[in-house]
Amino acid sequence: MRRFAETCEAVAAASGKNEKVRLLSAYLSSLTVDEAASVAVYFCGRAFPRGEEKVLAAGGSLIWQAVTRIAGAAPEDTEALYRKHGDLGAMAGEILQQAPVARGLRVDEAAAAFEKLASVRGPAAKLAVLEQVLRRAEPGVAKYFIKIITGDLRIGLKESLVEEAIARAYARPIEQVRRANMLSGDIGATLCMAAADRLAEAGLRMFRPVSCMLASPVESAGDALAEMPEGGLVEDKYDGIRAQVHKSGGEVKLYSRTLDEIVEFHELSDPLAALPGEFVMDGEVVAWREGRALPFTQLQQRLGRKQPELWLPLEIPVRFVAFDLLYLNGESLLDTPLAERRRRLEELLAGSSSVRPSPAQAWSSADLLKREFKGALARGNEGIVIKASASPYLPGRRGRWWLKWKQPLATLDVVVTAVEYGHGKRHGLLSDYTFAVRDGQDLVDIGKAYSGLTDEEIRRFTEYFLAHTIEDQGFRRRVAPVVVVEVAFNNIQRSKRHASGYALRFPRIVRLRPDKSPQEADTIERVRALYESQAV
Ligand code: AMP
Repeated sequence: MRRFAETCEAVAAASGKNEKVRLLSAYLSSLTVDEAASVAVYFCGRAFPRGEEKVLAAGGSLIWQAVTRIAGAAPEDTEALYRKHGDLGAMAGEILQQAPVARGLRVDEAAAAFEKLASVRGPAAKLAVLEQVLRRAEPGVAKYFIKIITGDLRIGLKESLVEEAIARAYARPIEQVRRANMLSGDIGATLCMAAADRLAEAGLRMFRPVSCMLASPVESAGDALAEMPEGGLVEDKYDGIRAQVHKSGGEVKLYSRTLDEIVEFHELSDPLAALPGEFVMDGEVVAWREGRALPFTQLQQRLGRKQPELWLPLEIPVRFVAFDLLYLNGESLLDTPLAERRRRLEELLAGSSSVRPSPAQAWSSADLLKREFKGALARGNEGIVIKASASPYLPGRRGRWWLKWKQPLATLDVVVTAVEYGHGKRHGLLSDYTFAVRDGQDLVDIGKAYSGLTDEEIRRFTEYFLAHTIEDQGFRRRVAPVVVVEVAFNNIQRSKRHASGYALRFPRIVRLRPDKSPQEADTIERVRALYESQAV
């Protein structure tokens, strides 16, 4: 693992993307395929492949205890170092310099340690495993081992660059590597396929969720027609939670757009299990009563509760509205045109009264789209999704095949980049958030709002942001750009106050978007388009 840590340092120091890819691919090529497959996962800031369900469940305080015990450090020293780095891994890297010299940790030993950490139960057992492995690691290695546990290497590496490094190391086309990774959800398995020249065999597998296909925003029926002059299908845009259903035998699992398992909606399992055959369906879980969707705020009350009170499913019933079929009885439908996928979906659901396909209609004129849009709002939905009938299902892509036209009162999904302490009742709580939109690879600030979140949420987020501070500026903390929130506002103005060159007027946080990653936040292009259309 020493060379892994050295490569991380070198990648962190390299400024250009090409240089990072070069360093990474040179290192991968020097390893056995098994070792390279393990470290490819680590370079993505994960101990296990994306699709795996194992969790380490080793939090900050456990790491803290293990590190201070090994270093024999006084609490004041550890705290001062943590404030300096704002990162547990970097803190450990420095403090463990004082510990007795370790004899080194091999890649396979690190992999075994992660497995063990995930499999033992209870903090005492986890602490023992952690201490054992960290005693074995040199300080530089401990630093990155911990960064993997906390889920972020912070060396300016994204999964897409790891894909490029694999393509380069094994001289394979990058498109093939990306597709295999998207479908397998496992960068390590992708590396093995690349090494064995078997990338073309990658396919959809049951209980391995693939990224969702996404829609690009449009602001009017005219825009949609300009993008899709040939017309297509139109459906309501439901304001719920995206869910990918995998069903095989009697087993049913739902996955979120972040590819995590959704466990809150037990009542959906039986009707889905009763459907014939083996399939992967895409759709939306929505709160539903008397034939129409309820607002998202209703559904939100059911989130995060694995064992809900008995009455909750009765009070806030949910249903799965299916809008796509990706796989059916051994056959991948990803390359099948949407119109045919829909036909097969409707056939599959023909016998079910509780799992229904989203009503879809053919359209060819802006007038029809306008009518559908109004109808969708009247039905309590957010707007419409406009889809090209010929489109394949492109996992993880936001292209021109799917367009979304939402209610004109725009909201933006933004990333929190800095937080400040509040006043009065919110004294001592980090309750004022500065947030940003995406600009290419960067994030540019666009506004600041008092949090519209509940007191309990703010308390939880205060803890979270304290643990994810990049820079402590006293009253203000720059934080790791991870949390996505949805903000509403009255309009957009040009402004020099923020790096984006725009400011939102009367911004307010509408809700958290735990289902979105920062890479899915809105972009400066969208802000510009909204500003220009003043459709806000
Ligand atoms: P947004 O969350 O605003 O980026 O909009 C995209 C989301 O709309 C998707 O991820 C889906 O969860 C959701 N959605 C709701 N209804 C549909 C539909 N009929 N087709 C596709 N996506 C839909």
